[in-house]
Amino acid sequence: MNNSPAGNGTDSAKSLFLPRRKLYTRIVQGTFQNWRIAFVLLSQVIFLGLPWLTWGGRQALLFDLPARKFYLFGTVFWPQDIIYLTALLIVSAYSLFLFTAVAGRLWCGYACPQTVYTELLMWIEQAVEGNRNARMKRDAAPWSAQKAGRKALKHGLWLLVAWWTGVTFVGYFTPIRELVTLLPFGVSGWALFWILLYGGMVYFLAGWMREQVCKYMCPYARFQSAMFDRDTMIITYDAARGEPRGARNRKADLKEARLGHCIDCDLCVQVCPTGIDIRNGLQYECIGCAACIDVCDSMMKKMDYPLGLVRYTTENAMASGYGKKEIWKRVLRLRTLIYAAILLAIMTAVVVSLCMRNPLKVDVLRDRGVMAREAAPGVIENVYRLQIMNTEERAHRFIIEAKATELPGIEVGELEQPINVDAASTRMVPLSVRFKLPREGWEPGMYPMMFTVQAVDDKALRREEKSTFMVPKN
Ligand code: SF4
Ligand code: SF4
Repeated sequence: MNNSPAGNGTDSAKSLFLPRRKLYTRIVQGTFQNWRIAFVLLSQVIFLGLPWLTWGGRQALLFDLPARKFYLFGTVFWPQDIIYLTALLIVSAYSLFLFTAVAGRLWCGYACPQTVYTELLMWIEQAVEGNRNARMKRDAAPWSAQKAGRKALKHGLWLLVAWWTGVTFVGYFTPIRELVTLLPFGVSGWALFWILLYGGMVYFLAGWMREQVCKYMCPYARFQSAMFDRDTMIITYDAARGEPRGARNRKADLKEARLGHCIDCDLCVQVCPTGIDIRNGLQYECIGCAACIDVCDSMMKKMDYPLGLVRYTTENAMASGYGKKEIWKRVLRLRTLIYAAILLAIMTAVVVSLCMRNPLKVDVLRDRGVMAREAAPGVIENVYRLQIMNTEERAHRFIIEAKATELPGIEVGELEQPINVDAASTRMVPLSVRFKLPREGWEPGMYPMMFTVQAVDDKALRREEKSTFMVPKN
């Protein structure tokens, strides 16, 4: 067996893993880089800013897990509204399918948190340690006070970003204004645990692991090819135009020199955050960040060649020489139309359901201990508990009634009504329902009945909940 790196030994074990090659990514400038900067800034403004917004005197966006409530501006969602969370997940999944089928790995290249935080930490690295060449030189040099100082400053800033990201993350679950006043040791053990976990993941995954996450840990890279077809937008090197590659003088006659447009400058590899060479064709490691397009275009400009040697295109367009118009026409194809139709249907259903959402929710629980009893001679009583949830931002008072078409005269037993339920809160109301048996008696069995809960201060706030009433055998 062989464990030599070169793999040319005969008596040692062969490693299953390639040794990691440290990447010194070159920062690029260009149109797509500007888009990426815009996405990083936008996502951070939203992420860092949202928990500080207030609405009606409380945090506008708050997942209050202990109280099991989710505040979203003027609306309060309860565990019973889990359907909306399910719908949100389905919408996110179908959006991802649709965007991937149309434009490839747009999510990975521009909006994935791993990309965003890696970009952010790379900017800090570049600001503290200098450009690619300076970083390579420093890493190769022996340790000195200057080198240690720069490294310490970089890691200190990374940790600061990670810490604040963790605090903000927890601020979505705990009122952030209270949280920051308690930092660092006054916060609860759980809050501190999540701050350190989330912040630690940012520091470790975006600072240290970087491209390894995309290459080896992220499952999306593995199954996204199932959403690709020959009309999906990908980033491609135009080999027919670029080859044969080679260095040349700017004024060189390409025909005479027998060269294509690729000057073999290697910059597309140096800017690649996953360290691949786009000239080797479509690879699963490519996150679609378009850094290679920006840098190659800058070289094409310098050489006075047409732009787009590396560009967004489709496999069909490459094979058949389609122009932009034809590529756009093919965006509307069966697969994307199906995704779009499903997405539209789910989103319409969610919007309609949200508009028709009743802010009053009632759950009826039968008392299993006491199914039915005789409260007075000839009076049958069943016991229930009604959970009344007022999801509105103001208190209401409610009247509870019971009705059953087959049980004339059925009514709610002694109960102090109306019942006050505070804003955005739940109240459990134990009550009994009574039915006076007629003289001739009554057929035993389970009878359908209905509870009506009506707000006294708002006619529209009303809920009917089905239940059953038991008449026992004599
Ligand atoms: S950046 Fe463009 S010209 Fe330079 S090596 Fe890459 S493909 Fe060739
Ligand atoms: S090959 Fe190009 S688009 Fe793909 S990850 Fe590398 S730089 Fe980004």
